[in-house]
Amino acid sequence: MSEFNLIAKYFTRACPQADLGVGDDCALVRVADGCQLAISSDMLVAGTHFFADAAPYDIGWKSLAVNVSDMVAMGAQAKWVTLAIALPQILPSPLQGEGQDGGRSFTPTPTLPLKEGGGINEAWLAEFSRGFFACADAFNVDLIGGDTTKGPLNISVTIMGEVPTGKALRRDGAQAGDDIWVSGNLGSAALGLAHLQEKITLTNELELCLKALHKPTPRAALGLALRGIANSCIDISDGLLADLGHILKASNLGATIHLEQIPCLESVKTQLENPAYQTAVLAGGDDYELCFTAPTIQRAAIESLSKTLDLPIARIGTTRMDIGLQTMHKETEIKLTKYGFNHFD
Ligand code: ADP
Ligand code: MG
Repeated sequence: MSEFNLIAKYFTRACPQADLGVGDDCALVRVADGCQLAISSDMLVAGTHFFADAAPYDIGWKSLAVNVSDMVAMGAQAKWVTLAIALPQILPSPLQGEGQDGGRSFTPTPTLPLKEGGGINEAWLAEFSRGFFACADAFNVDLIGGDTTKGPLNISVTIMGEVPTGKALRRDGAQAGDDIWVSGNLGSAALGLAHLQEKITLTNELELCLKALHKPTPRAALGLALRGIANSCIDISDGLLADLGHILKASNLGATIHLEQIPCLESVKTQLENPAYQTAVLAGGDDYELCFTAPTIQRAAIESLSKTLDLPIARIGTTRMDIGLQTMHKETEIKLTKYGFNHFD
């Protein structure tokens, strides 16, 4: 299959939100009056961000979902996306009715196991594309262009969206005395990963943890609703302590948070004395929940948002002038050696 057939078959769809989509040297879009263009890129590398032998549908979903999450964390409405993908090889998919065509059909043997980047066939691409577009449909994003090359499996997505001028939820907007809030359950994705790596054995809520890891849900409605309510916001991709740390650094503040107030799955709550679980909740990556700060006057508005959106949103601490991030568990301060994921640690 040629590169151009591949693009036409798997990555070309109508782009109602663009003036021109896939097919020319550039796509053309228009930003609404009174809005800023928000832009963000995220690259997913096989073996680093996902298991190459994971379900291709999930890889497609997640590669877009993590980008939508960045838009959401900025209070921006995601609209357009480009996809640059390197594929190691494309093997013919096994043909149907094998053996009935005079021996011309065959079952391909990957030269490399999928884990090492081999074995990608059209069935893989079809599933990847299905997952990617399912996420595009869920968050109303148009795939308007990209690049397709041969190389080790690598997926790089750039997302663009709109935010009313001056209304973006920036990391540097937190004020001393703000409440610190987080959405959803933290630690689920990290525990799912630890289970797959055979570091722990999850029995209860294994499905929920694997879903959090493989098919994260960006908190789109929350991010948009927080415009005008939150002073700062970030999505938790690397771990709560690391990501909250980015807000504090950008805003030149410190904070105290309370582990027992952080929302997590029931089976995790009962294990919060266990350092492995503490680390998952405080420093586990890949949850794509939102962490934001807001003035205390907004408490009622946030609690009502939580009800309307049917999404747990918990108040976990307070920011202050003194630099430093302190984590309490009941009356005791917790010291972790690791705050979150860092590629060059
Ligand atoms: P050029 O050589 O001008 O850069 P390409 O041959 O790379 O163009 O791509 C042809 C068209 O297909 C362009 O509009 C490009 O944006 C689009 N495209 C390429 N790869 C992808 C992809 N993976 N997903 C979506 N669109 C793509
Ligand atoms: Mg190109």
